Amino acid sequence: MIKHLGTYVCSLLAGVWLIFPIAHLSQKTLETRFSYANHDLMQTAIQLNRSEPVPVLMYHSISFEKSPLCVSPKQFEIQLRNLLKHGFTPITARDLFRAWDTGMKLPSRPVVLTFDDGYQDNYTHAFPILKKYKAKATLFVITGSIGKPRYLNWGQLEIMERSGLVDVESHTVTHPDVRHLTRKQFYYELAESKRVLETRLHKKVCMFAYPYGKYTKKWFPVLSAMGYQAAFTTKNRLTEYAQGRYSLKRLRVFPHDTFSHFPFEDRVDF
Ligand SMILES: [Zn+2]
Repeated sequence: MIKHLGTYVCSLLAGVWLIFPIAHLSQKTLETRFSYANHDLMQTAIQLNRSEPVPVLMYHSISFEKSPLCVSPKQFEIQLRNLLKHGFTPITARDLFRAWDTGMKLPSRPVVLTFDDGYQDNYTHAFPILKKYKAKATLFVITGSIGKPRYLNWGQLEIMERSGLVDVESHTVTHPDVRHLTRKQFYYELAESKRVLETRLHKKVCMFAYPYGKYTKKWFPVLSAMGYQAAFTTKNRLTEYAQGRYSLKRLRVFPHDTFSHFPFEDRVDF
C-alpha cells in the first residue's frame, strides 16, 4: 500500500474537488450529458457511438480495510445492484474496444468495472458478487505479485478467466511509474507481463492500466507495437474514444459511493 501513497493523495484531492462541482451542475446539465430517459432501449443491443462517453469504474481492493482504495463487499454489492437497476450492463474493457473498433454491438448502457493491482480479495469478495449478478469485469494485475501474500494466485486467476466473466489484463510486472523507465525497462514491464499472462491463461492480452495512472506519450508507439489496444490512466472522468486509446480516463470509486441516483454525472477532472 505504501506504493500507492500518490494515489491516496489523489483520492483526498478528489474528495475535496467533488464537493464543489456537484452544486454547480444543474439537473438539466446532468440529464443532457447522460440521458436515462429511454427505458425501452435498456435491453437492446446498440452500435456504440464513438462520441458517447462510457463509465469505466476503477476499483482496487474489495475488503473491510478502512482506506480510500477499499470498497467493502457489502457496498460493492449495493453499487452493482444500483448500476443494474439503472439499466447498466457491465462489459469488459476489451468489449468496449471491440465495439469502438469493429462496430460490435453492445447493451444500450454499458459500464466497465476495472480492478487494479490484483488483490486476493478480488477473488474472495468481488468474484462471488460478480457471479451472483453475472457481471463482467476487467482485472489489471501486477504479474510480479501474483501468488504473494494478499495478491491473487494463478489458480484464482484461472478460475475467474474460465468463468467468462473476468478478463485479466496487464498492470506491469513490478508496478513502476513508467514515465521514468528506459525504453528497455518499459519494454520488459509491458512485454513480460503480457507474455506470462498469455502463457498461463491461454489468451491474448491487449489492455493495460498505468501504475499510479502516470504515463508519457513517448510510450504510445511502443504500446501499439507490442499489441496493446488500449491503456487506462486514473484521471477521473467518463471515458471517451476521443481521449485517445493510450490515455483513457476512468472514474474512481469511493468507499461511500452508492450509485443510487445519477451515478456518474457529478464526476469531474481534478
Ligand atoms: Zn496499481
